Amino acid sequence: MLVFAKIKSLQQKIASLKKGTTIGFVPTMGAIHQGHLSLIERAQKENDLVVISIFVNPTQFDKQEDLINYPKTIDTDLSALKSLHCDIVFTPTSHEIYADKIQSQAFNFEGLEHQMEGKFRSGHFDGVGTVVKRLFEIVKPHKAYFGEKDFQQLQIIRKMVQKHHMPVKIVACNIYREIDGLAMSSRNTRLSIVQRKAAPFIFKTLQQAKIDFATKKAVEVINWVEQEFKNQPLLELEYFEIADEETLQSIQQKDPAHSYRAFIAVFAGNIRLIDTIALTIDN
Ligand code: AMP
Repeated sequence: MLVFAKIKSLQQKIASLKKGTTIGFVPTMGAIHQGHLSLIERAQKENDLVVISIFVNPTQFDKQEDLINYPKTIDTDLSALKSLHCDIVFTPTSHEIYADKIQSQAFNFEGLEHQMEGKFRSGHFDGVGTVVKRLFEIVKPHKAYFGEKDFQQLQIIRKMVQKHHMPVKIVACNIYREIDGLAMSSRNTRLSIVQRKAAPFIFKTLQQAKIDFATKKAVEVINWVEQEFKNQPLLELEYFEIADEETLQSIQQKDPAHSYRAFIAVFAGNIRLIDTIALTIDN
């Protein structure tokens, strides 16, 4: 496994590859867990070579405190990636990515950025767009792998690729969960024992919302979820939304021609957890 911190050395390696070598790319912020590994395994199956990046991108954090507290575990990350026989890991510094100006580019994602996470995390998707665009320019992958856990991010990246005619295929990967249903996340490691015990309630509620959505009005499902969280002393609901999968606009009236998805953000103390479930197909 090769580890590069410098763009130049990574690009030299990529340039030395045999012509026609297909490159799969998995961008991450590290604190590698089984969810990340499932993306990498898929990329390994579908490409000749896989590049994984580990970079905690400062411009996508709206709160300095969240950036500081974000888990950083580079040594264990590298051993997990080594066990998976990864080819190349790219671990740039902020300076390597942003030079002297740690600043986002402003994007127009045609409204996708104003929903849900965009409402609660100001500037978040400009930060995501900026770093993913930069990483795509550096790695030049044929395919890039993103988790449906961050479904809004996935749709935004698809939009960016489409609008900027970027020559990369975006591959969406299923959410990888703990046995009790909690979506795997780097942030889970920060949960206390009692918070960790309470957290599977998030997915349980999503599953029940999916069942109810088949027969009830969206507003009834939303009211029920909001009520359920009022009885959870350790979990504070930030938002629960039912939205169109394509536009991410909140549902007005159910239209059988559209696919819908429930999105949720919850605080356990100061740890923010998100999850999502497709409402109109099985998953
Ligand atoms: P992160 O390191 O949190 O930025 O995540 C890197 C990539 O892994 C993103 O595309 C995420 O959507 C994806 N990812 C994170 N958690 C999971 C999970 N539990 N299942 C599947 N993909 C995930």
